[in-house]
Amino acid sequence: MITASPGARITPAGAVTGDWRQQWRDAVTDPLELLALLDLGHLSGALPEADAGFALRVPRAFVARMQPGDARDPLLLQVLPQLAELEQAEGFVVDAVGDLAAREAQGVLHKYHGRALLIASGSCAINCRYCFRRHFPYGEEMAAAGHWRRALDHLRSDPSLTELILSGGDPLALATAKLEELSAGLAGLPQVTRLRIHTRLPVVLPARVDGALVDWLTALPQQKVVVLHVNHAREIDGSVAEACRRLREAGCTLLNQAVLLRDVNDDAVSLTELSEALFAVGVLPYYLHQLDRVQGAAHFEVDDQLALGLLEQLRGRLPGYLVPRLVREVAGAPSKLPL
Ligand SMILES: *Cc1c(COP(=O)(O)O)cnc(C)c1O
Ligand code: SF4
Repeated sequence: MITASPGARITPAGAVTGDWRQQWRDAVTDPLELLALLDLGHLSGALPEADAGFALRVPRAFVARMQPGDARDPLLLQVLPQLAELEQAEGFVVDAVGDLAAREAQGVLHKYHGRALLIASGSCAINCRYCFRRHFPYGEEMAAAGHWRRALDHLRSDPSLTELILSGGDPLALATAKLEELSAGLAGLPQVTRLRIHTRLPVVLPARVDGALVDWLTALPQQKVVVLHVNHAREIDGSVAEACRRLREAGCTLLNQAVLLRDVNDDAVSLTELSEALFAVGVLPYYLHQLDRVQGAAHFEVDDQLALGLLEQLRGRLPGYLVPRLVREVAGAPSKLPL
């Protein structure tokens, strides 16, 4: 059964109106409901009984962009639990990118020169099946629970840190008042000239880019970079375009990172359309990531040779500034590594 909190309105396509918190709470979490919304109820027998400890979660605003009746929909495949997740694949581990080793203070990851990453929130509005987050012990690591202080002390102790990256989880899962607390703490750190936000919320829940968030961003004295996460052109609709417009008006540079995912975007047409759709809403492609080898995600992996071939095709089709950098994260390396 489809339920909604008071005040929310469900359209036949499954989209919801209401503020972002309400939409967050109204996310689809039942795989049977998701399939029913997409006229795919006949597939329910193929769902894994256990979803491997990482529940389905997808906002209705994102569901509304899926194609009803299409079991291979590239948006659906990113969120629907599959039996293949339960298979053990060699080399696919719990901490694929060495996050636990890079921890320098509670909620702070420092891997690369000049920039430190703050796990500002353990929550996401969407659960992406290929994500390393499915195993990370966020409950203990997140900096949100009043631990700004320690993170900021760490930044202060290292004058080479000029950029702070807010990540997670999704940092924009935090209330804007919490973000204000953090930015107030940055006032005593003049060497931090750039604030970068890694977020999927403007894509999966565009209502998050509300007036309060825009006001917060506009008032920040640091240079602002927002790195979105879009894997397929069909994730971008009018509401995402509007969210991007507001972010740009607030003075943010908009970049995108995508993950190369088998059956989702591992063909030259999808990747070309992605770059063009991003640029149409003012976003430049930044990284195309080879999958982190996390347990349960092996069925998404794309072979390196195929990946390099795709990149070659992109170079033949797109202006250079729309070709993303194809990289892999290797634990212990001094940067993301080009393939
Ligand atoms: C990916 C990552 C960054 C950002 O790397 P860039 O190449 O600057 O985009 C920074 N810190 C950590 C811990 C990361 O994993
Ligand atoms: S951290 Fe990003 S990729 Fe992982 S579940 Fe959250 S939104 Fe998806």
